[in-house]
Amino acid sequence: MVGPLYKNLDTAMEDNEEDLNNNIEDIDDDVEEEEEEEQNWDDWTADGEEGEEDDLQLLCLFCENRFKSSDSLFNHCFSSHSFDFKTIKTAFKLDFYGCFKLINYVRSQVANNQCWSCGSTCESRQALQDHLHEPSGFENSNLPWDNDMYLKPYMEEDNLLYSFDEDEEVDDDDDTVRNVDGFEKMSIDDETDLESYASNLNLLKSCKENEVKGGTSVSATNGESSDDKRSNNSFVKAANRDIMIVNKDYFGSYSSFGIHKEMISDKVRTDAYRQAIVDNPSLIKGAVVLDVGCGTGILSLFAAQGGASMVNAVEASGKMATVASQIAKDNGLLWNEATNGSTKQENGVVKVINSMVEDLIESGRIKPKSVDVLVSEWMGYCLLYESMLSSVLVARDHWLKPGGAILPDTATMFVAGFGKGATSIPFWENVYGFNMSSIGNELVKDAAHIPIVDVVDGNNLVTNTALLQAFDLATMKPDEVDFTASVQLEQKSSNSTGAESTTTKCYGVVLWFETSFTSRFCKEAPTVLSTSPYTPPTHWAQTLLTLNEPISLTSKMLTTKSSAMVGSEVNPAVKIGARISVARGVEHRSIDISLEVTAIGLDGQKQKWPVQLFNMR
Ligand code: SAH
Repeated sequence: MVGPLYKNLDTAMEDNEEDLNNNIEDIDDDVEEEEEEEQNWDDWTADGEEGEEDDLQLLCLFCENRFKSSDSLFNHCFSSHSFDFKTIKTAFKLDFYGCFKLINYVRSQVANNQCWSCGSTCESRQALQDHLHEPSGFENSNLPWDNDMYLKPYMEEDNLLYSFDEDEEVDDDDDTVRNVDGFEKMSIDDETDLESYASNLNLLKSCKENEVKGGTSVSATNGESSDDKRSNNSFVKAANRDIMIVNKDYFGSYSSFGIHKEMISDKVRTDAYRQAIVDNPSLIKGAVVLDVGCGTGILSLFAAQGGASMVNAVEASGKMATVASQIAKDNGLLWNEATNGSTKQENGVVKVINSMVEDLIESGRIKPKSVDVLVSEWMGYCLLYESMLSSVLVARDHWLKPGGAILPDTATMFVAGFGKGATSIPFWENVYGFNMSSIGNELVKDAAHIPIVDVVDGNNLVTNTALLQAFDLATMKPDEVDFTASVQLEQKSSNSTGAESTTTKCYGVVLWFETSFTSRFCKEAPTVLSTSPYTPPTHWAQTLLTLNEPISLTSKMLTTKSSAMVGSEVNPAVKIGARISVARGVEHRSIDISLEVTAIGLDGQKQKWPVQLFNMR
């Protein structure tokens, strides 16, 4: 699949998703009404900071006070709420991610009037504030915030997440964080960071959680005021509206035939699915198949061709579901309700259902645990963009028989460092003999915030390839789609005979994925669908994360001792450590990626750069 999301909402939708439109309008009306009511009582002023609201950026973790700097906020948390951020950070050896997760964890606990330290639930926010105490009973191996779900910002526009590590000296081992010219750390002054990333904070998540908890059991028992409840309701409605708008845009984009043409014409992709489905008769013959997101129905048609006894082709876009039915009919493969049972037409096995899989569960139209083979082409750019994997896992858990097959059954993400050739710098250096490199430099600077989806030639990779993350789709849990992983990259060994290895510059890392139809289910013809820079390009291309500044890299053989900064031209690194996290963003279907790189010298000397955040939306 491809991910043409977040186009201008004014774009005319080809789809006739009228219900969705009406629902969105209803919710809009409700939200507007409630927002009007709320305006009357939204008039508090922070203590001691009157008249400076514009500068007040950072909201206390426990109360409504706002502060201009993380230092003053943490001093207040210490003196007023017994929360000593710096001591906790040191005691539990929290790195950037640890602190990031701690802040989100504390905010989520406070939202439920729960003590972040002992977990007790208090009757009201005031009771919680009276109860707060120093941390107790934590073990380093079992910290409650040490969960990747807390990589997702809990609160909308939580500027604290972008400033808590400002002015801090990093002294773990001999790592040093540099703050070089033109190399901005994330800060509340950095509007680009805030705009591109803070716009995706976790309003939806918090609202969804409130909704799951009903805002009822929590509110009813904890003495939450009716104001709070009203504002929660309004948030939930606003969140639902946002999700509906994104879904409308998303499924609307899939009603364009051009996208389906692009996917079907991607031979690497379509051939891999065709082989897995058609060339594995022991899996498909006589099987009940579920195609999650059938689009034109191409995978369902392959399944019918491969001898499936029944194919449930589920598609959320109304237009594509109609089209898929027509195509199945035109090819004599449509399930015929009227003749089903007694005189079922031969091969008429494809049943198209127009619904989001999530909404189909309650209808009971497909019996739970009745499917032998689930097939889906759910992969987005950088594998996880579009978050369709979550829908596939919902379908797997509800309809797949125990021991049933899922196609593909594994997905693996890879990473490697890229050189200047993969950037647009060389193009702008010589345009009809003119030097336009200022454009290239500008573009590379912008790319340090936004992932670039482009085809990279394997020749432009300057490091080895490392496995970043592997998913077993038959067994993985839904929340495992968010992850953090570390890799080490070394200079790619030169394959030209006798050529001396030289110093190269690594401009960033490129991510790609592979999905496999392994012999676990595809006994006769296992196959791999690769989007590697070393194999023929696919419509997914690769995803590039550009560094704020390149790191010089060489082989061990060439290194001589130097006191200059590791990773600089005079003291190139022998390895690059990269810590990458990928998590679903707050904006429905977007993903947030963070990248933290460390240049490692021959003698283990390290140079660490500030974390870079990328949002894919
Ligand atoms: N299977 C087709 C289309 C893949 S694109 C092919 O291989 O060519 C993914 C399709 O899944 C889109 O048509 C999209 O509208 C649909 N889709 C995405 N999420 C869905 C969901 N939750 N429920 C049903 N359909 C979904």
